[in-house]
Amino acid sequence: MSAQQGRKRCVSCGVNIVGAGFTEFDCPECGHTINRCDKCRKQSNLYQCPDCGFTGP
Ligand SMILES: [Zn+2]
Ligand SMILES: [Zn+2]
Repeated sequence: MSAQQGRKRCVSCGVNIVGAGFTEFDCPECGHTINRCDKCRKQSNLYQCPDCGFTGP
């Protein structure tokens, strides 16, 4: 386990996510857990999987 464990970060804007109001889902390509903050979700910003580079809406 890395030191990053337990720290959630929006993959779109890079903000550290604390508390509620974010979306967590698995990358459709590799299953890596992706977090996106509420702001980016509402703006429908693209996300990119940090693991495999998959991008999606
Ligand atoms: Zn964000
Ligand atoms: Zn992926």
